[in-house]
Amino acid sequence: MKLSDLHTGQIAVIAKVGGHGGFRKRIVEMGFIKGKKIKVVLNAPLRDPIEYELMGYKISLRREEAAMVEVISEEEAEQSLRPSAAQHLSALTPTEQEQTELEQRMQQMAEAQGHTLRVALVGNPNCGKTSLFNVASGSKEHVGNYAGVTVDAKEGTFQFVRPTTGERYTIVLVDLPGTYSLSAYSAEERYVRSQLIEQTPDVVINVVDASNLERNLYLTTQLIDMNLRMVVALNMYDEVRKNGDRLDYDQLGILLGAPMVPTVSRSGEGITALFEQVIDVYEYKSEVARHIHVNHGVELEKSIDRIKEVIQKNGQIRHKYSTRYLAIKLLEGDREYNAFVDTLKNHDELVSARYEEQQRIQRELSAGAEEALIDAKYGFIQGALKETHQLSHAKKHGESRSERIDRIVTHRWLSYPVFLTLLYLIFEATFTLGEYPMQWLSWLVDQFAAFITMSMPEGVLRDLIVDGVIGGVGSVIVFLPNILLLYLFISLLEDTGYMARAAFITDKLMHHIGLHGKSLIPMVMGLGCNVPSVMATRMIENPKSRLITMLIIPFMSCSARLPIYILLIAAFFPDSGSLVMLALYALGIAVALVSAKLFSRYLHVGGDLPFVMELPPYRIPTLKSVVRHTWEKGQQYLRKMAGLILAFSVVIWALGYFSIPGEEASVESQMTPNRAQSSLHELPRCEGGKDREAGLTASVAPQEASVESQNRSCLEWVGRAVAPVFSPMDFDWQMSVGILSGVGAKELVVSTLGVLYADDYADDDDQSTTRLQAALIAHTTPRAALAYMVFLLLYLPCIATIVAIRSESGSWRWALFSAAYSTIIAYALALLTYVVYGMVG
Ligand code: GDP
Ligand code: MG
Repeated sequence: MKLSDLHTGQIAVIAKVGGHGGFRKRIVEMGFIKGKKIKVVLNAPLRDPIEYELMGYKISLRREEAAMVEVISEEEAEQSLRPSAAQHLSALTPTEQEQTELEQRMQQMAEAQGHTLRVALVGNPNCGKTSLFNVASGSKEHVGNYAGVTVDAKEGTFQFVRPTTGERYTIVLVDLPGTYSLSAYSAEERYVRSQLIEQTPDVVINVVDASNLERNLYLTTQLIDMNLRMVVALNMYDEVRKNGDRLDYDQLGILLGAPMVPTVSRSGEGITALFEQVIDVYEYKSEVARHIHVNHGVELEKSIDRIKEVIQKNGQIRHKYSTRYLAIKLLEGDREYNAFVDTLKNHDELVSARYEEQQRIQRELSAGAEEALIDAKYGFIQGALKETHQLSHAKKHGESRSERIDRIVTHRWLSYPVFLTLLYLIFEATFTLGEYPMQWLSWLVDQFAAFITMSMPEGVLRDLIVDGVIGGVGSVIVFLPNILLLYLFISLLEDTGYMARAAFITDKLMHHIGLHGKSLIPMVMGLGCNVPSVMATRMIENPKSRLITMLIIPFMSCSARLPIYILLIAAFFPDSGSLVMLALYALGIAVALVSAKLFSRYLHVGGDLPFVMELPPYRIPTLKSVVRHTWEKGQQYLRKMAGLILAFSVVIWALGYFSIPGEEASVESQMTPNRAQSSLHELPRCEGGKDREAGLTASVAPQEASVESQNRSCLEWVGRAVAPVFSPMDFDWQMSVGILSGVGAKELVVSTLGVLYADDYADDDDQSTTRLQAALIAHTTPRAALAYMVFLLLYLPCIATIVAIRSESGSWRWALFSAAYSTIIAYALALLTYVVYGMVG
């Protein structure tokens, strides 16, 4: 009987727990396990919840939840022991022997009931469900070769003896009507899903036509959403063999979290193996069965999670529905569930959340939620099949456009040149096309600085605005076009569906270093800016791969590091510029890959479960969505500029502007002839619009206000305090300050050096870059410069990245680890560079 039917004071033994996976898991965790004794503490007719005592604990269950638990009561046991005497016996107090006998009986009966399972057959029309039903149960139902023969569910009961152990099971097999999906569009679909939810079979056999997997697995993904215990019968396997297709069904089963058994229900082949798997899944012995989430992509998953949260506020429906399934159905706009939602107490909140999310999906994906969900599911199936399924050549006609493109783009070896060429084109375009708007912007920044200089009276405030704010932010804002372009291309790759293929083809390679194909996308994005790419790791389901990806992203040389390379290379390696540049990028990538390998071996976090790499259909992205996505990413960059970079520029400026009284001026400053004088005659020239270039071609050369000529500036003081750390590599104090400022944002290194070396080239009339270069050449050696670039490439990610790692990994621990690890590596490799250069050069 049902647990909910027991009266106050009655005792029973638990036989089995029904319901969907999530509910079962929760209830089993509470201690509701087969064979355990349970007592009703209080079950008043109108009272909900009911109170129970289980293993010495008091637990309350809602009435609806208790109805999902099957038990054997004392009365039932007594009845079966002594059918006639039961009545009067219960009036007497039983003897000790009678009591133990009774308890044994209860256990036996619970065991027997536990060996009775309800198994439902679910599948598309004509996949062979009825044939399977007949061959398994031995009944002779009419088997038809057209859709719609099975109108109602048929039940058949048979005994199954497990060949390995000899255990007996009674299986109640239910043949449900064929459906292509579980939406509420047809009577069959509504019927099947209500059966699955109301009758809650112990195990579902999803019968699929293995010779037509792609279409058949669509229903499978919906059953996965429902979180049912499931075994997949790959029926018509004789056809698969005949066609010469190859299917790695073990791997497919692992990916989908459901055991797969090839069957031929016409001949009965594979049926015993199928039911053995059914028993294994039922008894939690299957190693393959697990609850996975069909990944619908970042945007859809965001919506699903939000709606799920709102649904979960209704505690009482969780026993019946997987809330994830319900959320997906609501998002799809399922009419039946929409009506159901109206009965919930927070339905207003739910309806508006659903509406908002549907609108958001429409905006983000330019598709209705239902269509987007269907697409995502097919992408999931495509990905799973791509890894496990090989069609014979005979069948390749009639393939879709996506499949045709995929044949080249995911070709065993053609795919790599395609991928590398695309990457090359993107970077080439980003930097050559980006050059023009960059020059315009930098001109604008100059004009603005000149305008402020002219229109404001001399003083601290003007210096702050011109040197601190415009100087600092201006030198960084010029990179916005490059960054927007890079993001434009990345958005294009994502929206067309190519990015998923790139991830797919690199998956095997990535596995060697403990990563996942999906790690590639954040890594490529890292070449633009590390911050959004750390956020992009969200698309990696595997927690370990995700963390490792996050930790190695800082080694991908972001565009903010570019100006310093350009500056130093122009000064020290004018002849082998592109080679050095390439070597630096390659070094970053190499350190990233080696670190990934190390982390995957030595970091113990999370599980390492395989999952499907979705291959969504190709599509031509709409202009609107590409612009939106590009702009969203650009915004993050702008925000960084308005916040962190602005603040740091001002701090650096202030530290350089103000001085510590009493401290002696630096040797360099003292040696600069006529410093005070030159500064004085510098000022009027400023007003005339002194060339104030920024960015790639130049860093700002703010004139130190130079009042402090006799005192050492705070910045110098800080720099000198840190410099000894870097003295083995011959970095001077200015370079040390550069390193410190780079922590704020790597773009700041150039502008900081610009500020610090300003004195040295005050008299010159050249372009400020060449003067800054001249200053650098005077101050340091090619050897130290190369080591400096290596250090800047690898050390401590900028503050924004550290913060992103902290929020994405959920703890400061990993953010700090990343900071410490990268700095140690940077120091070691910079020193190595310095030493090796010394030996070679
Ligand atoms: P249902 O609609 O899912 O109940 O499918 P049926 O059991 O009615 O079967 C549809 C057709 O497929 C019938 O003609 C069956 O004979 C045929 N069929 C069923 N199982 C197999 C199989 O394993 N191999 C092959 N080749 N045909 C099968
Ligand atoms: Mg049928």
